[in-house]
Amino acid sequence: MIAFSDPIDVAAHCAHAAMGMMDRYGVPAHPNNFIVWYAFVADRDPELTRAVNGILRSGQKFTEAVCADLHERFFGISQHEAELRAVGERIESAVAQVMDYLSTASQGAQQYGTVLESLSGGLSAPQPSSELGKLVKSILDETKMMIAVNRQLEERLENSSGEIARLREDLDQLRREATTDALTGLANRKLFDISLREAAIDAQENGKFLSLLMIDIDFFKNFNDTHGHMLGDQVLKLVARTIQDSISANDTAARYGGEEFAVILPAVRLKDAMAVAEIVRGQVAGRKVLNRRTGQVLGQVTLSVGVAEYEFGEMLGAFIHRADEALYLAKRRGRNHVASQEDLSSTSIIEFQDV
Ligand code: GH3
Ligand code: MG
Ligand code: MG
Repeated sequence: MIAFSDPIDVAAHCAHAAMGMMDRYGVPAHPNNFIVWYAFVADRDPELTRAVNGILRSGQKFTEAVCADLHERFFGISQHEAELRAVGERIESAVAQVMDYLSTASQGAQQYGTVLESLSGGLSAPQPSSELGKLVKSILDETKMMIAVNRQLEERLENSSGEIARLREDLDQLRREATTDALTGLANRKLFDISLREAAIDAQENGKFLSLLMIDIDFFKNFNDTHGHMLGDQVLKLVARTIQDSISANDTAARYGGEEFAVILPAVRLKDAMAVAEIVRGQVAGRKVLNRRTGQVLGQVTLSVGVAEYEFGEMLGAFIHRADEALYLAKRRGRNHVASQEDLSSTSIIEFQDV
């Protein structure tokens, strides 16, 4: 989202120029379109400038749809942000409602107290029995009213607490979605970063091992080109499921990017991490991938895996880089292969001797 903080004279100049261009290109005079053209004139975002220039060059018309698309791309809020905002607003209004009920309850109780006090004054003085009866009836009436008000309040509070519980579930759901990869259901890159940081802190504080697998599907571009993107997506799901089934509950499997996965293995040393990597590699390579619709055998999918172990105090970037280097060594060694950081040092010596 682009923020504007131009001085008045600059803003006036840009606004004038934006309106002139909107007029010239027949852009509907809508505030959303004005924001887009203002940002274009002020050259606020190179991507936006490129997009508008592209449309201008192609001679395409600035129809409502084209304009709406530009606004959505550069100024719209994401679906997820919009949902979060909506839940936030509903929580705010539910809380305001509860506060309102509580304030009504406290006013009611105060009023009841005042009435009782005034009536009890009458009770303490000697009264003829007919007056006494009236007094008791008044107290009873007030009490009945108070009970009715309280019952209604109780019901309303119950409804509100139900609504708040539902909102909390919605919020949890949104939070889960924000950290989950939609296609595979594994942790997304954001959760991977958080989990790795936490695992490294835990390893450091408690002197535990920590290992990392970087996994990449071999020749996946070929697979997509041959069988199509949709079947490619099914393979991504299959690989994700196989990884998830091969690790324990303490481990975190994530989709690191396109066809690359990462697994965080807390309290696991390099040699045991290698064993996990071998299991995942073997499981995937051992499966024949079928097109469920046609029954056609699509062949074998294989993985290359790089394995690294955390060194206390090192930067996480260096840790990931080591696992990545091992992954690319596994690729160089012919793919469908697991390599570790220990293989790296030996190859770098060989490479050095080769020079
Ligand atoms: P290498 O063995 O060296 O890893 O070769 P590669 O073809 O797997 O690697 P490259 O990086 O050239 O291509 C990765 C491919 O992964 C390209 C892209 O089409 C595919 N890919 C990335 N994300 C997705 C996705 O979400 N769905 C599908 N179907 N394919 C994807
Ligand atoms: Mg690949
Ligand atoms: Mg890749």
